[in-house]
Amino acid sequence: MENQNLLYDNLKVCDNGELIFAGVSTTALAKEFKTPLYVLDEELIRNRCKEYVNAVNQAFDGNASVLYASKALSFKKIYSIIQEEGLGIDVVSQGEIYTAKIAGFNMQNAYFHSNNKTDEDIEFALDNGVGFFVVDNEEELVAINEISNSRGVTTNVLLRITPGIDPHTYEEVATGKVDSKFGSAIETGQAEEIVKMAISLQNINLEGLHCHVGSQVFDGEVYKMASEVMLNFIALIKNKYNYTIKKLDLGGGFGVKYVSGDGDLDIQKSVSEVATFVKNKVLSLGIKMPHICFEPGRSIVADAGITLYTVGTVKRITGYKNYVSVDGGMTDNPRYALYKSKYTILPAYNMNKECDMLCSVVGRCCESGDILQEDVYMPSTIKRGDIIACLTTGAYNYAMSSNYNRLTKPAIVMIKDKKAEVVVERQSLEHLTMLDK
Ligand SMILES: *Cc1c(COP(=O)(O)O)cnc(C)c1O
Repeated sequence: MENQNLLYDNLKVCDNGELIFAGVSTTALAKEFKTPLYVLDEELIRNRCKEYVNAVNQAFDGNASVLYASKALSFKKIYSIIQEEGLGIDVVSQGEIYTAKIAGFNMQNAYFHSNNKTDEDIEFALDNGVGFFVVDNEEELVAINEISNSRGVTTNVLLRITPGIDPHTYEEVATGKVDSKFGSAIETGQAEEIVKMAISLQNINLEGLHCHVGSQVFDGEVYKMASEVMLNFIALIKNKYNYTIKKLDLGGGFGVKYVSGDGDLDIQKSVSEVATFVKNKVLSLGIKMPHICFEPGRSIVADAGITLYTVGTVKRITGYKNYVSVDGGMTDNPRYALYKSKYTILPAYNMNKECDMLCSVVGRCCESGDILQEDVYMPSTIKRGDIIACLTTGAYNYAMSSNYNRLTKPAIVMIKDKKAEVVVERQSLEHLTMLDK
């Protein structure tokens, strides 16, 4: 029988039981590059990019773009891959702007998000040629206008609008509701106010509207609901202010499979459903078809990544629980501690062993919440030195990693044509203390 836990096509099991990722033995990778180790499948990332680009181009007749939400996973090489595949990017900080820029990314295709851009951020983004600002609020809009004015430039802006939709995902990652720290709500009239202001400001070119309704969405339904609200609003702007909104950015949030019970995302199907809906709606409203953007982050990189760990201790507390401790934890993956996120953890060293021991896989930090996953089945013979793999860690793992307990961040290796290349070095102790006086 097919192992249900081999969530993705790039996972295989060797005759001797070793887990193979993107054609390479995980235990060999652990041996060569040490653990904890992030491993990425370059081909999968590229294929996912192609899938999105083809889907939106086909569905929207070429009048659409895909922007990679680089907060999901940001380091130099990812930006070159994204550029080669023809996507734009979302950036949310000077750090992401800088990384993309020095990687050679064409910053005209960058969209600068965040709900609180400082004056320094705005200056930095303009210095580096960022193409579009996605503006969250009025103070920010005024600041961008003033700074642009002092430079004698006009800045392209999309306004972040809160459509008032709850996509039934986790509270922590639901961002489309009226009561959110992000954007201006249509319901409260604030959205119309900020639109009016943007139209009136001399050094602002109001190019489009943006919304983002959440994460882990598996079909087109939520995007249809969002585009309905947004297109009605675009029509209102046209009718009341005679202003044409040229771009509609529907955000990111497409889901990925963390455990075998999770849904399967059909990108092409979802995008084409949204396109049909949008086209009909545009027709019935009698407005001009806007250029549509999607901003997938997680679904481009999550399943292209796994994390390898070495088991340190196996603690059996009779009558209570079993603990398998690994040499990483909340420092390289804080998502269980933050959201109780589900993950699939596999005995990469030998997948043929029966997983007969219920346990919690925990990290090495001085924090009882430092758990990678509870209720995991592992072989009862698992012992110190064995390699295990946590799947679907390409998004929001390295990106959210920390140096808590003065632990160094793992390296990232990327696999292409069965060859592993270090794309981010493991932090050294020198790196850790570099800023200390
Ligand atoms: C986080 C975020 C995304 C990406 O979300 P994913 O769930 O990773 O696809 C896109 N747009 C905005 C504005 C975001 O905040």
